[in-house]
Amino acid sequence: MLSFSVLASGSSGNAIFVATESTRILLDAGISAKQLALRLKQTANLGFSDLSAVLVTHEHVDHVRGLRQVLKQSHAPLHLTEGSWSALASTLEEYPPERLVHSDASYDIGDIRVTPFTVSHDAEEPVAYRFDADGMRLAVVTDLGYVSDHIKSLLEGCDAYVFESNHDVDMLRAGRYPWSVKRRILGDKGHLSNTDAAVALLDVLGDKAVDVYLAHLSEENNQPDLADLTVSSILTEAKAIYGEQVTLHRTSRYEPTPLATCLPHASKRRDSAI
Ligand SMILES: [Zn+2]
Ligand SMILES: [Zn+2]
Repeated sequence: MLSFSVLASGSSGNAIFVATESTRILLDAGISAKQLALRLKQTANLGFSDLSAVLVTHEHVDHVRGLRQVLKQSHAPLHLTEGSWSALASTLEEYPPERLVHSDASYDIGDIRVTPFTVSHDAEEPVAYRFDADGMRLAVVTDLGYVSDHIKSLLEGCDAYVFESNHDVDMLRAGRYPWSVKRRILGDKGHLSNTDAAVALLDVLGDKAVDVYLAHLSEENNQPDLADLTVSSILTEAKAIYGEQVTLHRTSRYEPTPLATCLPHASKRRDSAI
C-alpha cells in the first residue's frame, strides 16, 4: 500500500509525506520543523526518527524552510539534485546528501521506486517526483512553468496526483505584484495556473479513477473555490470526466490532508488512518 498526506501546500510552504508500511519519505520541508513534527504525528502518528529519507525538489525557501532542523532531528539521509545541493550546501554543511538524484534515473528507497524528473522553474536544478509501490503510482508535480510532453509521458497512469494549481491568471494580472514578479510567475520557469493545470490533466488522464490534489495555491492570486471551479469546469467541458473519474481534493498551508491509502488494484481510493 502506498499512502500519502500533503502536510502543507501553498506558496508559503510545502511538504508531503509518502509511505508504505516499511518506508517513509518526506518530500520537502517548507514549513517549520515544529509544525512538520506536529502534522506528521497528527496524520501518521510518526516522528522524524521514523523517516527513511528526506527528498528535496529545489532550494526555494517554501520547500526547505524547516529542512535543517528536520535533518538534525531525524538523522534521515538527504536526497536532492547536485544543483539543489550547490544552492543549499552553505547552510547544510553538516548534512551532506546521501544521494544526488538525476532526472529520469529511477531508484529504490526501500519498497518505493522513486523517479525524479526535471521541471522548468527558476531554481538551480529543480525536479518533481513520481512514486511507485505495490502497483500504485503517485506523482507530485509543483513549481513548473509548463508541462512538457516528456513530463506528460511520466504522468500517465498515475492513481493520484498532487498537481500545481498556483494562480488564477486574471487575479494575478490585476493584483498588486510588480510586473517583474507577475512576468516571472506567468513565464516558462514560473508556476502553473489553474487553467494550465486543467489543460495538462486533460492530456494525462486516462480512463481510470484518479484523485487530484490541487496544490501550491498562491495566497495572493488564487482562491481554493476558484481553483476547484476552474479545473472542474474545464475537465467537465472537455471530457465530462470530472466527478466520475476525477475526484478533486484541496490542500492547505494550514493543515495536512488526511492520510490517503490506495489498496492495490482498487478502482477507488479511500481516506484512512494507519
Ligand atoms: Zn514552491
Ligand atoms: Zn519554487
